[in-house]
Amino acid sequence: MNIMNRSVAVIGGGPAGLMAAEVISARAVKVDVYDSMPSVARKFLMAGKSGLNITHSEPFERFVARYGKRRAHIEPMLGIFGPDELREWVHGLGIETFVGTSGRVFPVGMKASPLLRAWLQRLNDSNVIFHLRHKWSGFNTDKSLKFETPEGEKGIKPDAVVLALGGGSWARLGSDGAWVDWLRQAGAQVEALKPSNCGFDVAWSPYFRERFEGAPIKSVVLSFGSFRQQGEFIVTKEGVEGGLIYAASALLRDEIATTGSAVMMLDLAPDRSHEWLVERLARSRGSRSMASHLEKNVNLKGVKAGLLREFVSKEDFSNLQPLAHFIKNLPIPLISARPLDEAISSAGGVTFESLDENLMLRVLPGVFCAGEMLDWEAPTGGYLLTACFASGYAAGRGVLNWLGVQEL
Ligand SMILES: Cc1cc2nc3c(=O)[nH]c(=O)nc-3n(C[C@H](O)[C@H](O)[C@H](O)COP(=O)(O)OP(=O)(O)OC[C@H]3O[C@@H](n4cnc5c(N)ncnc54)[C@H](O)[C@@H]3O)c2cc1C
Repeated sequence: MNIMNRSVAVIGGGPAGLMAAEVISARAVKVDVYDSMPSVARKFLMAGKSGLNITHSEPFERFVARYGKRRAHIEPMLGIFGPDELREWVHGLGIETFVGTSGRVFPVGMKASPLLRAWLQRLNDSNVIFHLRHKWSGFNTDKSLKFETPEGEKGIKPDAVVLALGGGSWARLGSDGAWVDWLRQAGAQVEALKPSNCGFDVAWSPYFRERFEGAPIKSVVLSFGSFRQQGEFIVTKEGVEGGLIYAASALLRDEIATTGSAVMMLDLAPDRSHEWLVERLARSRGSRSMASHLEKNVNLKGVKAGLLREFVSKEDFSNLQPLAHFIKNLPIPLISARPLDEAISSAGGVTFESLDENLMLRVLPGVFCAGEMLDWEAPTGGYLLTACFASGYAAGRGVLNWLGVQEL
């Protein structure tokens, strides 16, 4: 069959699906992209609202370590389309990138919309056809794809399919995780979706919550098991949220799942030693309250002093040695991870064991998977998008291979 007669359905118009569409359409194979939403890449656009961190500039060896126990599966894909290739690709769309102070890489302008516009134009030029408001809802008995559309139900039987349906967070942007059941019914192994890069619930007292909701906690060290990192986070109505919490969130979430709770330790004065604190706190307090003594001598005030009040007993709060100890080692009990819908990303998904080396489902020949719907997780820092692009690229190559079309 002439390759021009082959047709490929890409379901999900996020970064992973669009990358697969680009790779496949570049070889003159007909590509139809289906998305349930009225426009594509809504989460990608949302990611650009707070500064699109597209990848990270650290050495490759450190970069691949961010994928933890899934490194062995992600690394080969990044070896082909990794952080450097991704930056080149962005430049090819006419958008420059820059490295921020933390080594994170952003497009100039920080936004996703100019990049998406240029990208959609390129896909248009490659004759990719978009079918919006088409919600994939599983397979018909003849294995065709079932879609709910404004014109009613449709069945489509392409030569190959790329599923790039995203995870289960921020469902209002399109990725609702409904596909999990359909793929399980088809015999694929899919791990339950779990929140990743998420916040946690803390049983704040009404006083603390009222006074400190929204307050940033800056320059603290969070420890949990072998995890130890300096950073910041914010107090929310329900608990804690933000970069430092996200970085530890996979470990904290798994601990809660196993034991029912987790206690993270905070060092509220990472640049000061215990001895320094004791010496300063031992200075004469006069008639000052402990709160103003803390502020004057060790510069602990506001929400940090509030945290001490919240979790240190009255007795320990007024005793030098225990108080210094708790400033360096304050236990914060976490009750549960915030719901998946609020998380930045999802863990769980289609297991690599149920895919071949081209990301094709072993139980559904011709059906490939890519992006966040695969069973991996990574911290924020550009690692999420990079692996989505890389797996979209890999699935695109897999499809070409399956169709017998020469790869790029
Ligand atoms: C607020 C926020 C900020 C973020 N910032 C960053 C960042 O700066 N850097 C970074 O690396 N990552 C960031 N991320 C994560 C990143 O955006 C995602 O990991 C990435 O978008 C996932 O890409 P994807 O293509 O796998 O899935 P998605 O982008 O979720 O796309 C999946 C597509 O599939 C469609 N779809 C789903 N189900 C169906 C169905 N049944 N039928 C038809 N279509 C369907 C959806 O409508 C959607 O368009 C952020 C996430 C959030 C929520």
